[in-house]
Order: sequence, then C-alpha cells, then structure tokens
Amino acid sequence: MATVAPSETKTMLTLPGDAVRQIQWRFADRFDLQMLVQSARGVARGTVARLVAAGERNTHEWTPGKAEMMEAFDRAGITAAFMEPEEGGFISGPKNLALSLAAFELAWVDGGAATASLAGSLSLAPIHERGTAEQLHHYKSLSAPPQPGEERKTWRGAFVLTEPIPYVGVDTGMLSGKVRVAEWKDGEEPWLQVDKRGRFITNIAFANFVTAAVGSDDERIKGSCFVILEETDEGTFDHGTPTKKLVHQLSSTGDPIFNMKVPASRIVGGYTVKDGVIVPNYSHGEVLEAVFKRTRVGVGLMTAAKLLSAVEPVIRYQRQRFRGAEGAKPGSIRYEQGIQQREDALHRLVDVWATGEAAASLGFATARLFDQIEPVEKQKTAMLKERGIQGGRAEMKALKESEQRAIELLSLKEDDPRRAELAADPLVQYVLMDAETNVICPATKLWNTGHGTNILREAVSLMGGYGITEDCPGFLANKWMDAQLEATYEGPEAVQRRQLTVTMTGEVFLALFRSWTLEMRRIASTRPGTGACTLASAMKLWLWTLEHLQLAKDPTGGKLYHGQRQGVTFALADALCWLLASRYQILDTMELEARGGDDPVASEGLEGTVQFLSDLCHTQAAAAAGEVSRICAELVFGYNQHPNWDEEEHKSCFLASELEEYEVTMPGIGAMAVDVIASDGSHPQKAGPCADCAGNNEFLRLQNRLSACLSGSRLAKDRAAENVATVMIPEALDYPV
Ligand SMILES: Cc1cc2nc3c(=O)[nH]c(=O)nc-3n(C[C@H](O)[C@H](O)[C@H](O)COP(=O)(O)OP(=O)(O)OC[C@H]3O[C@@H](n4cnc5c(N)ncnc54)[C@H](O)[C@@H]3O)c2cc1C
Repeated sequence: MATVAPSETKTMLTLPGDAVRQIQWRFADRFDLQMLVQSARGVARGTVARLVAAGERNTHEWTPGKAEMMEAFDRAGITAAFMEPEEGGFISGPKNLALSLAAFELAWVDGGAATASLAGSLSLAPIHERGTAEQLHHYKSLSAPPQPGEERKTWRGAFVLTEPIPYVGVDTGMLSGKVRVAEWKDGEEPWLQVDKRGRFITNIAFANFVTAAVGSDDERIKGSCFVILEETDEGTFDHGTPTKKLVHQLSSTGDPIFNMKVPASRIVGGYTVKDGVIVPNYSHGEVLEAVFKRTRVGVGLMTAAKLLSAVEPVIRYQRQRFRGAEGAKPGSIRYEQGIQQREDALHRLVDVWATGEAAASLGFATARLFDQIEPVEKQKTAMLKERGIQGGRAEMKALKESEQRAIELLSLKEDDPRRAELAADPLVQYVLMDAETNVICPATKLWNTGHGTNILREAVSLMGGYGITEDCPGFLANKWMDAQLEATYEGPEAVQRRQLTVTMTGEVFLALFRSWTLEMRRIASTRPGTGACTLASAMKLWLWTLEHLQLAKDPTGGKLYHGQRQGVTFALADALCWLLASRYQILDTMELEARGGDDPVASEGLEGTVQFLSDLCHTQAAAAAGEVSRICAELVFGYNQHPNWDEEEHKSCFLASELEEYEVTMPGIGAMAVDVIASDGSHPQKAGPCADCAGNNEFLRLQNRLSACLSGSRLAKDRAAENVATVMIPEALDYPV
C-alpha cells in the first residue's frame, strides 16, 4: 500500500475508548449515564452474549433463558431508565439519550436484546406522551422493577398498533381494531368493549398490559384512541402464536387477539362527554405522532452500534488470517498483517468504520436534541396557554412569528446586538429545535438502518466464509439480518422518507441548513482535513437541486416536487441524510479535539485519535458528496426528454453541407462538431443529438466544483487505512461467541 502519511502525522494507537466516546457523544459530565452504559454493557457482553452463543436465537419460543434476560435488564437498571425517580427510576428529566445509550450497548452484541429493552418503553410511550397523571404514575410505577422489600413482579407491556393485513402498516390511519360502548349506566363511568388483533407485536409473550390503537365502531364514541388493556381484564387477552422471525429472536414477537371489557378511564389521555358522546382527548393519530416523534432514534442507534462493533472482530480476523501456515512465520509480514497487507481489505473496513461513526454521531445528536427540546417544548406550551392558545391551527399560526424571528436570528452576523435577544426567546429556541428534530429523527431511522444494513453486508463479506457462519466473532451475520428489521419496524423506510419530504422543505429548516453550510466552510478554514469543505459544496448542490425541482416540470407539464412523485422527493430525502450524517460526524470530531485535552484518559494519544477520526470524516464526506452528486444529477437531467434525430429535435445539429461552408470562415469547426447529419440523413449511432444543459449550467458549475472538492479525500482514506493496519486491539473479543 502507498505510504502517504507525512512524517508528522499522528496515528491512533488504540480503538477509541469510553473517555473518547463520552466527549464525542456529550455525556462526559453525566455520571448517571456513564453508569448506565457500564451496567448495560455488563448485561450485553455477559447474559446476552451467552444466550446468543448458546443458540437461543434458534427458537421462536419464549424460553426461560430469554426471560432471564429481562430480569437481568431489571437488575442492571435498564428497565428503570425510562422512569422518573418517583416512579422507581434513577434519572430525572428527559431520557432519550439514556435509553439510546442502553440500546446501543445491547445492540453491540444483539439487536433482539436491544429491542426487548426498548419495547417496554414503547408500550409506555403513549401513556408517557399523552396519558393522564394517574395513568402515568400507575403504569410507570408498576413497570419499574420492585424496590428492595417490595413484593411484586415488574409489569411488562406491549405496544399494539400493527394489525393483520390489510390494515395498519405504513398507513396508520386505517384501523380494523374497534371500540364500542359495552355498558353505560346513568351517572356512572362508561364501559368499553375493545376488539383488536395485533400482528408482529413485540414483548407479547409475557405482556401484562398493552396499549392498543382502536377506532370507534359506535356513534357514542368519537373518532379513535389508544386504550390500555390489562391481562386480568374481563374477556380474552390471547398472547397469540409466536412470529417465525428470522431476526431479533431474543425478543418476543407474536400476533395477539384481544376481546375485552374495560372502563373508559383506560382511554389514554382521558375523555370528555359531549352531548352523550365519549370524546377521547387524543385520537390514536395524535398519540402516535407524539410517540414516534421520539422513539425511532433508539432503533437507528442500534444499527450504528453494530457497524462499530464489527471493527474489532474484522481487524482480528484480517490480521490472523494466515497464521499457522507454513509460509507465514512469526515476524513475517504475512504472519503479522495477514489480509491487512491488501489495500482493498483495509479500505472497505474504513468504509464500514466511517459509516458507523457517522451513524452514531447522527443518532446521538438526535437523542440529545430530544432531551434539550423537552423542557423548551413545555415552556412553549405554557407560554401559548397563557395567551389562550392550545395546539392545533391556532398554535401553528402563533408560532409563525417565532419562525420569522428564528430565520432572522440565523441571518444575523456574530456581533449583531439583536442576536442575544432573539436567541433568548424560548419560542425561537423551540421552533429551531423543532425544525431540526423533525428532520434528523427520520434521517437517523432511515439512513442508519437502511444504508447501515447495506454496509453491514460489507462487514460480513470482510470475514469471508466465516462471516456467514454462527461461529463468526461478533455475530456479524445476525447483525446484518437484524438490521433489516430495524429498517422496517416503527415504520419502514417509506414512512421516514414521507416525513422527510415534508419537514426538509420547511422555511426554518432550510434557513438552518444554509447556516450549517457556512458552518462547514468555517470549520474547513481551520480543519481542512475533516472534509468539511467537500461537505459544504455537496450541501450547496443539494439545496440548488431542491430549489430547482420545486419549480421544475416534466415534459408533460407535471410538477416534479410533489407528494405523489416519490421518485423525486424520496431520492432527495435520501441524499439529505448522507449530508446530515456527515455533518454530525465532523461536529463530534471537532468536539473531541476541543475538549479531549481536559480529560486525563482521552488526552492520551489525542492527536492521533483526532487525526484518524478526521480522516474517517473526510472519507465519509467524500462518499456523501458522491451520492448527492449522483442523485441530484439524475433528478435535474433525468426528467428532461432526450432529443431525437427527427426534424424538430435536430434543429441544433449541423448538416454536413453547412459545415463545409462554415469551415471557410471558422477553420477547424468540422473537427469540433459532434452531432453532424450527413446529406443522406444518416447520423452518429447514439440516442440522439446530445442533450443541452439549458438552464442547468449552474448545476454543472456546482457539480464540477464539488468534484474538485474531493481533492485529498482518497489520501485521507489511505491514511486511515494505514492506521487501521497498526491500531492495537485486545487479544480477544470481550464477549463469548
Ligand atoms: C419483529 C417485529 C416486531 C414488531 N413489533 C411491533 C410492535 O411491537 N408493535 C406494533 O404495532 N408493530 C410492530 N411491528 C410491525 C412493524 O412496525 C411493521 O411491520 C412495519 O411498520 C411495516 O409495516 P408492514 O409490515 O405492514 O409493511 P408494509 O406497509 O406492507 O410495507 C411494505 C413495503 O411497502 C412500502 N410502502 C408501504 N406503504 C408505502 C407508501 N405509502 N409509499 C411508498 N412505499 C410504501 C414500505 O416502505 C415497505 O417497503 C413489528 C414487526 C416485526 C417484523
């Protein structure tokens, strides 16, 4: 392999450890989260790894071993991480980062284990987001593990939205689950009859309660709602048969059937009675919106963990590949470096690693932002309530002014005195954070799991035949297959893309995006090695394309940027995700560089670590630029009709006879002309005269510039690859296979 590292280049000596990660992912000052990470890791690399190694994934049934895993979660504090201290938890305030870190640790070993941990929180999420105070306290307290001396079992819940085909999937509005009035005596609370069948419901084998989405089948109940059903309620609570999953077998999944009578107080968020009709305070759609707004980030981080977890086993495999062979004596390059002598093997591992870094940075940024927005959102709600505004259109109208103030803030220079005033306005803070979360949450779910799955295939392939065996260290083949489920559940890719196509065109988001482009240029001016300039150029190209497509039409006059035109909107959403992942990766590397020196552990070998992570950023930025360039070019030119060789379309071509005339005044033109029609009407063998780029010259200028901006990116990749070949790894993986 070519040696490109200048002599002063520092190299990373060991794999990034906890101290580095805590700074990058911003929980260096959160001792509670650090403890949670350690205990979740203990369960993952102990109980969970042993279950996988013992073949517990080979059965669809819920086994004592899998049940023991749930108990281990309880003992390790993973279950209680979702609760407030007064509900039996130990973390107060927002917990998105906490839950994400726990899921990340579990998924490092097994995705099903991580899902099992998240599913309990998901079952409580409707209650957490929209439940009444009593519902919240009751179900969260029961779902927290018992305190010492308390005689009870931990309650476990399941979230029941998906139904047997043809109902709920992507279109969550279509429900076949129904609710009717069972009994309603004068002056007493009504009783409801709930009929719901679930499909693919996680945690169902052992659930004591479920939160289920149902629509009204009775004129005395308005619309739809979520209801809470308990195992001991009157009627049928059938846990159903286990789903024959090919993935995530450590979690329980099945198709339950419910036919139950429950009091109306089980409607999540309560209800009022208006003219003899029960009106739920929240429709099932409103509950879902609040739930999915927050919960998808953990899933995205599960795939990120798997990508990063692949690095160490692949390095070990590559290095040891030829040991034991006659020709590979200790000390020889073949013995010491194995397959790592080969550039391609290293480059592909660099790609896996860079993707994992970007996915983790994007996911943890989203989780943190969710934590930050929670108190601000409460403040916003209180402020608007004071003005007599509570949700709906009135709120959207009221926030319009704050949106304009937010956009103004983003346009002000650093030293503008108005900045402080605007930045201190909680409503401005809210609309900014809201615009960002509404994009980066679906982006995390979409890019981390979708693209992440593709890259996990690369990781598996780097292990050769071993990669697709049960014996593969790091369970890589399981992780690859499991990732496909992560891309599917809590709404498959189409759901995320649909959300992105709406949120990414918001005025505030686009203003933020413009400011991020400048931010990348600023970073590039002092840290060109991060690829920030490449990224900024790619961001500019994406924005130009979006603006162009919003006005452009196809040859039949149809609008290109349109909700029904997923070929355009979804592709642009995909392109955006690449840019976002790369941006947060660069920001995390900058954070490490800025703060690493203050930490006694992270400061050791810091320069080398920052250099390596910067090279990964550069590699990833170049990959993002290539993807964006390809997608945008296809969209900008792909909807133009290609010219034909017919009379109408070849007006711009030269006739051979004309060329002879022109040659007199413009010597040499004959050699330059490309689309020449001969006197017998024949023409060059191709689709038609070359399409011109009328109106799209600016695109080509930006795309050209972007190509030149790739300068240095392969040198960075070479440098990262060299470092991968020398970085020290432990003697053996720290969990059994
Ligand atoms: C192991 C497992 C655990 C699960 N756990 C739960 C759980 O605990 N609770 C629960 O409620 N559900 C659960 N689910 C269900 C899961 O959320 C759904 O399977 C998922 O949302 C996809 O829905 P679907 O299977 O109906 O796919 P479909 O909706 O049929 O999608 C099939 C394909 O069509 C595409 N598609 C669909 N609609 C559109 C559209 N409008 N535009 C473009 N493309 C579209 C999709 O992107 C996808 O590629 C689980 C599923 C599994 C497999």
